[in-house]
Amino acid sequence: MIINAPEVPNDANLTNRGDPVSDQIYDVVIIGGGPAGFTAGIYTAREKLETILLEKSMTGGIPNNTDFIENYPGFPEGISGPGLMSKFRQQAERFGIAIREYEETLKIQPTDNYHMVTTEKNTYRTKAVIIATGGIPRTLDVPGEKEYTGRGISYCATCDGPFFKDANILVIGGGDSAVQEALFLTKFAKKVTIIHRRDQLRAAPILQQRAQTNPKINFSWDSIVTQILGTNLVEGVEIKNVKTGKISQLKADGVFIFIGWIPNSEFVKDLVKLDNQGYIITDTYMNTSVKGLFAIGDIRAKKYRQIAEAVGDATIGALAVSEYLSEI
Ligand code: NAP
Repeated sequence: MIINAPEVPNDANLTNRGDPVSDQIYDVVIIGGGPAGFTAGIYTAREKLETILLEKSMTGGIPNNTDFIENYPGFPEGISGPGLMSKFRQQAERFGIAIREYEETLKIQPTDNYHMVTTEKNTYRTKAVIIATGGIPRTLDVPGEKEYTGRGISYCATCDGPFFKDANILVIGGGDSAVQEALFLTKFAKKVTIIHRRDQLRAAPILQQRAQTNPKINFSWDSIVTQILGTNLVEGVEIKNVKTGKISQLKADGVFIFIGWIPNSEFVKDLVKLDNQGYIITDTYMNTSVKGLFAIGDIRAKKYRQIAEAVGDATIGALAVSEYLSEI
């Protein structure tokens, strides 16, 4: 469903950045090409809403960096993260959504008639926006981290694990990501040490049990990394025991950091209500504090973050968008 363009505001044909403004008015712009974004796209495109999905890098989102997913229903044997996301994309494309990769969204400007979504390359006019931008990996912010990123420090085991054959690897974090990726890394590494700041993992019990019984995995409890050590490449880390205060060094060929995520909400921080961690606050129907702007998936303020849950958010959000569009 494409409607004729209403009167264009002063700044609409060329934005102040000089970007072209499309004459087309979309029904829905979806920002973010992970599980939530694609699910929303499947629903809105199937409802014959003119939908475009914008993704700042390649589509797939966080699951693209996950070796194996075994808790997403419908795949009793499990499935690889990229394999699952390729199916999400195929299904959305089947119903006709447009996809733009490597096009980061910089801002959203609401107007009376529609919203303007400005990316690095274009400005899109749309009646509704669904924000599904998820997060980026949290960094430790310790000396050496920036310097050795890509030189032995990684935030993606699926991408970089194969480079660490027979290596001695450190994994930082105690959540599902850290433990799952530590297990994956044992396929390549000689030894994997999980460094966690407490003496109890946050990860799901089944993952904990697998890690605790894996002969290649051991643990460094109650420890925080205070420095990444190396010369040209990573050679180890300095850790501090938070209970005893003791400082020690651990040698390593690689350091994988999985300590959670930072929400990708910077571009809307002055527009919609965020919680104190930067996640977007919505109501039960995924409405943000701005009319016509919806938020779904990991970017939304909530307790749990799972693919199945992102899919649920997206279904509700897309149906709410459809209802909103029929009302306006
Ligand atoms: P998370 O659940 O937020 O866990 C982050 C871990 O890093 C925690 O153990 C935390 O310690 C630790 N941490 C945080 N900041 C730290 C710092 N500055 N220094 C040292 N350690 C720090 O993140 P996640 O594991 O990436 O998971 C994110 C979400 O995705 C979760 O909801 C998770 O369930 C979901 N997920 C699910 C699966 C799955 O179902 N298979 C896989 C991956 C992720 P504390 O425990 O002390 O807070």
